[in-house]
Amino acid sequence: ESTIPLLAKASAARFPGKLALDIDGTAITHSALDAEAGSAAGWFAARFAPGTRIVLSGPSSPGFVRCYLGALRAGMIVVLANPAYTESELAHLVADSGAALTLTAFDAVAGDPVEPAGEPDDVAVLAYTSGTTGKPKGVPLTHRNLLTSIRSAMAAWRWSEDDVLTHALPLFHQHGLSGVHATLIAGSSARLYSKFSDELVSSMRTATVLFAVPTIYARLASSPEAFSGLRLCVCGSAPLSTALAAQLPRIPLVRYGTTESGLDVSNPVGSPRGDTVGVPLPGVHVRLVDEEIQVRGPQVFTGYRGDVDDPFTPDGWFRTGDLGEIVDGHLVIKGRSKELIITGGMNVYPREVELALEDHPAVVEAAVAGIPDPKWGEQVTAWVVLDGEADLAAHAKSVLAPYKVPKQFFEVNSLPRNHMGKLDRNRLVSPVQRAVD
Ligand code: ATP
Repeated sequence: ESTIPLLAKASAARFPGKLALDIDGTAITHSALDAEAGSAAGWFAARFAPGTRIVLSGPSSPGFVRCYLGALRAGMIVVLANPAYTESELAHLVADSGAALTLTAFDAVAGDPVEPAGEPDDVAVLAYTSGTTGKPKGVPLTHRNLLTSIRSAMAAWRWSEDDVLTHALPLFHQHGLSGVHATLIAGSSARLYSKFSDELVSSMRTATVLFAVPTIYARLASSPEAFSGLRLCVCGSAPLSTALAAQLPRIPLVRYGTTESGLDVSNPVGSPRGDTVGVPLPGVHVRLVDEEIQVRGPQVFTGYRGDVDDPFTPDGWFRTGDLGEIVDGHLVIKGRSKELIITGGMNVYPREVELALEDHPAVVEAAVAGIPDPKWGEQVTAWVVLDGEADLAAHAKSVLAPYKVPKQFFEVNSLPRNHMGKLDRNRLVSPVQRAVD
C-alpha cells in the first residue's frame, strides 16, 4: 500500500547517500531526489489543486524526473508526452487530456517543500499508447496499477537493492518509466540515457540489469563483451526475431505487456527463450479467447479516457488485441488482431511470414502487411531489408503454404519504426501508393 512519492521518500530514508539516478551523466542520490521532488511538489501545490492534469514533455533528464515525482507528490496527474510530437500532435494530447499546464522545461520548478499527498487508488499517470494501430489512446493508471505491475516483475526477476539498471528507453513510455519505479521500490540505482549511444554500451559493463527493445539489441549485437557482467537483459515492447536472438551473446529475457495492463507475462530468470514471452507474472491472470490474449489483475487500468471503444469483456477481462497461442505452457505472441491479413478468406499472420522470411540468411529484417486487392480482399505483401542476393519467392514457397506467400516483395533500406522500435505497418507503402501520394 503505497504511492510513488512515498516510495521515493522511503528510499531516501533507507539509502540517503546512495545513487538513485544518473541520467546522461548527471547523478542524483535517493535523498537529493526526494528533497527535489518535495520542492517541486511545493511549486505545483502552490498553483494547482490535486487531481489537476499536467503534461510533461521532454527528453529524459533529472529535471523531468524531479517534476514527475513533484507533480505526483502534489497529488496531480502526469500526462506523459513524446517530446518528438509535432505542435499539432501535442495540441491533440493537451486537448484530449484536459491538462491545465504543459511543461517542456523543468528548471524553474522549485518551491517550499511539501509532504506527499494522494492515495494508492488515485490516478497518477495518464499514459498514451504508442498509436501503432490508430491515434494514441489515453490510459489512466493509478499508483496501484503502476506499482503492482512492476513489483510482480521485480519479484520474478529477483530485483534487489544492489541492482544497477541501465537503459536508453524514453521515460514517457511505460517500459522505460517502470525502471524508475523499480529503482524507487528497491532503493537500487539506475543509469539512464536520453538516447542510444556508446555510453549505454559502457554503462552495461558495470550494470546488473539492462532494459531494451529489439532495435536496441540489434545495435548491441556488435558489442558482445558488454553483456558479460549483466545478470539480466530484459527485452520487450516489440517482437524479438529469432535471427536477432541468435546474434546476441545470450538470449534476452523476453517479457510482454501493454500500456493498459502493465507487465503481464515474462520468461523466468535463468531459462530465457527467445521464441515465447513466457508465463503470467505473479498475480496476473491471462486467458486466450478465440486466440485473443485477455488479461485480468490489479495492474490493469479501468478504461480509456474519452470516447474510445470499451476494451473489456462482459466478465471484466481486458482485451489486449494481441493474438497468441500456448506452446509448452508458454505464451507465444502471433501478432495483433488488427494486423491480421485476410486474403481469399484465409487468415495470414504477418509475424509468421516475417519470421519465415527472416530465416533466409540474406534477409536482415522483414515486414509483412496486407494491401487492398480487388480479387482477394487483401494481398500479402513483404518489405525486406537485404544483405546479399535472395530468391525470396522461392524461399517463401518452400516454407509457407501458398496463400501465405507474399505476392510482392519490395526491397527497402530500413523499416519504419516508432520511438519504441515498433514496426509501424501504416507507414509501409508500396511504390504504387508512393507514386499516388
Ligand atoms: P496502440 O494501442 O495505440 O496501437 P501500442 O499497443 O503499440 O499502441 P503499447 O501499449 O506501447 O502501445 O504497446 C503494447 C503492445 O506491444 C502489445 O499489445 C504488443 O502488441 C506489443 N508487445 C509488447 N511486448 C511484446 C513482446 N515481448 N513481443 C511482441 N510484442 C510485444
